[in-house]
Amino acid sequence: MTDSASYFASSYAEARTRFRDAAQNAGAVPESVTHPLQGPEGEALATDVVWIGPRDAERVLLTISATHGIEGYCGSGVQSGSLEAGRYRDLPPGLAVMMIHAINPHGFAWSRRVTEDNVDLNRNFADFDAPLPENPGYTDLHEVICPPSWDQETIESTVADLLGYAETHSMAALQQAVSGGQYIYADGLFYGGRGPTWSHVTLDGLLRRHCGAARKIAVIDYHTGLGPFGYGERICPAPNGSPERARATEWFKDITSLDDGSSSSAPLVGTNDRGIHRALAHAEVTQIALEYGTQPLLDVINSLRGDNWLHVHGDPASPAARPIKSEIRRCFYPGTPDWCRSVWDRAVETENLALGALAES
Ligand SMILES: [Zn+2]
Repeated sequence: MTDSASYFASSYAEARTRFRDAAQNAGAVPESVTHPLQGPEGEALATDVVWIGPRDAERVLLTISATHGIEGYCGSGVQSGSLEAGRYRDLPPGLAVMMIHAINPHGFAWSRRVTEDNVDLNRNFADFDAPLPENPGYTDLHEVICPPSWDQETIESTVADLLGYAETHSMAALQQAVSGGQYIYADGLFYGGRGPTWSHVTLDGLLRRHCGAARKIAVIDYHTGLGPFGYGERICPAPNGSPERARATEWFKDITSLDDGSSSSAPLVGTNDRGIHRALAHAEVTQIALEYGTQPLLDVINSLRGDNWLHVHGDPASPAARPIKSEIRRCFYPGTPDWCRSVWDRAVETENLALGALAES
């Protein structure tokens, strides 16, 4: 039997080739939406899409990888592994699987969580015609979070400042301030943008083009970086008390919420479920993020701060980039065989719950 750890790639280019080859071997024709920019090695960037099952299926399982760029190693490994293992070979009648591979290919290839314009794609679905959400905690901390230098002394003093904020307010308040999302500092962390990014527009177009016949859609959006090492938390972005939240609990059993403190994530604004619901307004959508833990929260935040410094003040092509890139990778894709196997097992279990629920619905 194949070791599931072998499904996971070690570069964006490898992940892309692997996904496309696996799709073709499964008899599917991958569709590509080419990104206008290139990767660090000059490699082409694209979002690739595969549809398995009848085109007019009314029930669809949609999986998404790399909403947060570098987190794509996780979801891509699950997507390619599922194709290689023939997991969708005997889908029940009327059911299809749509796989969106690397919705943020630029972040994936450049080992970044953000898009090419420093936007957090999962904060980019705010209503840009209305006043944008405010995050006064971030405003207070921006200069501490994103200092102009990134040497040991600066790291230690700013971490002390951040921990001081947590001591005064709470660790949850610090996490909320840093990661909840902000729309003011375009060179800052967890920036939601001023309009739809390429990945946002691409996701919207793909869903409208492919899912017109779908009536019931389960969405699993693969993420990493929060929670215990290797554990997959099923986070439902729908508000507590909503029909979707109730359905997610029925389908996926152990669900956490963004709005009641049960999740390892802070409450967020401008998340992609808003755009997914808008594009699929004709259908019943049941969405979760499957969020896998990697390293302690402070390490994860610091890895993003270092990467932000590198791209704002430093040179990603310089030797200074190496330790920063290896740290962000450790924090979003540990890639050890035990971590990969644990990702795979939980993904299979979660996708099977979705497929079973769709088949019965
Ligand atoms: Zn994520």
